[in-house]
Amino acid sequence: MATYAQQLKAVEGQVQSQLSDGRFQHCLRVKDYAIRLAQQNGVDPDQAALAGLVHDYAKERPTEDFLAAIDRHHLDPDLKNWSRAIWHGVVGAYMIKDELGIDDPTILDAVVNHTTGEGVTMSTLAKIVFMADYLELGRDFPGVEEGRRITDQSLDQGVFYQLKETLSFLASQGKLIYPKTFTSYNDWAKHFS
Ligand code: GDP
Ligand code: FE
Ligand code: FE
Ligand code: FE
Repeated sequence: MATYAQQLKAVEGQVQSQLSDGRFQHCLRVKDYAIRLAQQNGVDPDQAALAGLVHDYAKERPTEDFLAAIDRHHLDPDLKNWSRAIWHGVVGAYMIKDELGIDDPTILDAVVNHTTGEGVTMSTLAKIVFMADYLELGRDFPGVEEGRRITDQSLDQGVFYQLKETLSFLASQGKLIYPKTFTSYNDWAKHFS
């Protein structure tokens, strides 16, 4: 069984070949931020690095690839009403398993949930990938420094901060909100109330 570090070396070229340079560089920065959060939170840094590197593997796939994978894996047909923003995690995890051969269920679950988060039972690795994607050093949006500060203090408070900010941002833009984004927010709001 290959170690996480061996798997990371083995898949890096494949990830790069699927992505624009800008997005690949984002994946490398998510990997680096995930390592840092893993060290702070008692998670294997190699596992976090691998999850961070591959999290957006499917982001640039054509729509038909996602629609075919939804059928092939018998996923919820309602997914077809959404878009790449949601598919690349939820459906992308299956492509990562099938095409990169990564079968660690904790890594695949972290990819599934990296866009929407999950309720308070989410794994520490899933919290790390969710936060590293949001806070990596190339991100520059109002509130990113505050997010980094909070997350250094408490990973859980960081997750709730991101869920609050993302939900308000999407609503302020009049965007459709995926139900899981709401339920994740509500579960953490209850937890911290
Ligand atoms: P990225 O893949 O590194 O760009 O980051 P994410 O996977 O976290 O998010 C992808 C996109 O989906 C971002 O533009 C988010 O703002 C957006 N997004 C997150 N949640 C939702 C949602 O519930 N509905 C919609 N429409 N977009 C969302
Ligand atoms: Fe993503
Ligand atoms: Fe994200
Ligand atoms: Fe990302």
